[in-house]
Amino acid sequence: MNSIIIIISLLETISPAIGNFGYSKRQHLWSKDFKLCEGKLQSPVSISSFKSFPLPLPALEVIGYHDYLPGPLHLKNNGHSVVVNINNNARNMYLPYIFGASLEVNQEYELDHLHFHWGAKNNRGSEHVFNGIRYPMEMHIVHRNKAYSNFSNALNYENGLVVLGIFFQLQLEDNKLLHPILNNLRDVRWLHKEIKLQTPVTLASLLPRNTDVFYTYKGSLTTPPCNEVVTWIIFPTPVLISFNQLNMFRRLSDGEDVLADNYRKLQNIGFRKVYVRRLNSSLATTYNATVFNVTNLDWFLH
Ligand SMILES: [Zn+2]
Repeated sequence: MNSIIIIISLLETISPAIGNFGYSKRQHLWSKDFKLCEGKLQSPVSISSFKSFPLPLPALEVIGYHDYLPGPLHLKNNGHSVVVNINNNARNMYLPYIFGASLEVNQEYELDHLHFHWGAKNNRGSEHVFNGIRYPMEMHIVHRNKAYSNFSNALNYENGLVVLGIFFQLQLEDNKLLHPILNNLRDVRWLHKEIKLQTPVTLASLLPRNTDVFYTYKGSLTTPPCNEVVTWIIFPTPVLISFNQLNMFRRLSDGEDVLADNYRKLQNIGFRKVYVRRLNSSLATTYNATVFNVTNLDWFLH
């Protein structure tokens, strides 16, 4: 009896040590250690095109997305995802940034890092669900408001982060644009393994072909500490990936098991609005302007 108790308490102490949180059956425990995870503006959510509010929003402007990211980039298996990080010495250099879309005027958001969420099977993996579809993978390109000096500082502000959410859809052929990252996955198979990427990468090569249409809402980090500081911008057009390429992710280890199904369960949308950028003429007439003014954009239903 005593030994059982000791084993259970050992397991309890070992599990949180792996990145401090777990997926699968452990998600309901997040709010025990991270109170913000039970907030009212949590992510991910289910997005439906016909329930979203169409607006003639400005385009998302991306600067430096076609340039090679300042290297060497770091690829790391942190036990709950695989992360592409900027070298710390390159932080002071010119980094890609975004503005426009549903973002406050004069606010610019600089690249912080990118990471992936994927399933053990093809019918799951993405965090957001779009029109009832859960894609096999979703990539998050995380940007920090330039007004805040670093990532942890930005976590204290409602307009701290913008995350671009990009779905992946399966096809037979490899997507060659993914090679610079994917060909290195085998070298970060084990927990906490980190390597330098040898091949240069542009963010543009990882974006869907169409970025004119996007969905946007106010939400949170989808991992603890779940801060409600994220303006989400989700593209409905997926990027393509082959079965073989997706399987490379599924060979990673989280230290105990296969690293997969690292997606958070859906959160309630509550009183939040999801906007969709639409450019048809009737909307432009309704709003009587070609460029919609996002100042005072109302993110909540009343
Ligand atoms: Zn994520």
